[in-house]
Amino acid sequence: ETHTFAEDRYSQMLYRRSGRSGLDLPAISLGAWETFGGYRGEEIARACLYRAFDLGITHFDLANNYGNPAGNAERVVGRILRDMPRDELIISTKAGYRMWPGPYGEWLSKKYLVASLDQSLKRLGLEYVDIYYAHRPDPETPLEETMAALDLIVRQGKALYVGVSNFSGAQFEEAVQVTQRLGLTPITIHQPSYSLLNRTPEYDLLNHTRRAGAGVITYSPLAQGLLTNKYLGKEVPDDSRAALWWNQGHGWDERNNDKLAQVRKLNELAQQRGQSLAQMALAWNLRHPSVTSVLIGASKVEQIEENVKALHNIFFSEEELKLIDEITGF
Ligand code: NDP
Repeated sequence: ETHTFAEDRYSQMLYRRSGRSGLDLPAISLGAWETFGGYRGEEIARACLYRAFDLGITHFDLANNYGNPAGNAERVVGRILRDMPRDELIISTKAGYRMWPGPYGEWLSKKYLVASLDQSLKRLGLEYVDIYYAHRPDPETPLEETMAALDLIVRQGKALYVGVSNFSGAQFEEAVQVTQRLGLTPITIHQPSYSLLNRTPEYDLLNHTRRAGAGVITYSPLAQGLLTNKYLGKEVPDDSRAALWWNQGHGWDERNNDKLAQVRKLNELAQQRGQSLAQMALAWNLRHPSVTSVLIGASKVEQIEENVKALHNIFFSEEELKLIDEITGF
């Protein structure tokens, strides 16, 4: 491998502990969902991962089903990771959504979690992932089985840390209690959706993660691009996720028009703070003491560069926070 990564790659990024663990995560992490191996190909994925790493982004997030066809994101990113320093990176993947036909191809049984991770490791070309997630709660499988399967996977060395995603506060609490009662590997991290347009974790989840000593990495902090300036004009840009993917490629979801009024007001506040809307949206997530990292997506290198600059100002005054609550109807 001939690529040389920036020597100053650790000089700008902020690293924060995931709860009461030894795991440091960059304040900004990068995910592959729908972009890499999806509506963006390998060239762009490689450029984005390299640039992200040069800027200190050491964490890349995947799942078994990401990309088109499902699994393609792990394949594409795996080829790129072969040319990157594995020990400087935190790679996560997940299982929970439908991946193959039949009763063992989704949810959180031991059978599915073990088989799916073996497939993911092959696609990624890795011996282990750093974090393995239960991607969504399973209403049928006992949590004892799911948490014991994750614990087994850690003991086998196929994953270092365990996470859950999309669990409600109550479901998370129950999972924590199961790990404590059975002496299983603790949950190091929770991955919920959280943004200026989706504040559910503030009242449902973050008390629980704090008490349990688990970290939090928030996904879709830009509401998939809605919290940027790209949809503020009259036209939906041709190269945007809205045009390429939402509604199976049929374009803009009319329901977003209601949100745009809020987004415009938030954009004014961002300008007053001397930030872009995307930067303010990320900074606002990171202001919360329970949030370890924000998990962004990117379809261009420039988006990563802009977003990392959010770290220049993650402080909000009481007045700004109040105004944000008013605008977002919280
Ligand atoms: P974001 O909310 O960050 O949206 C990313 C999209 O926003 C980009 O693809 C790009 O869209 C646009 N964007 C980003 N930065 C800018 C910018 N500066 N200016 C203009 N547009 C910008 O996150 P995602 O929804 O992509 O989710 C991020 C990651 O979170 C995923 O990759 C995945 O790893 C994880 N995730 C986890 C889920 C779970 O269930 N656990 C569910 C969803 C995501 P465009 O293509 O239009 O340029």
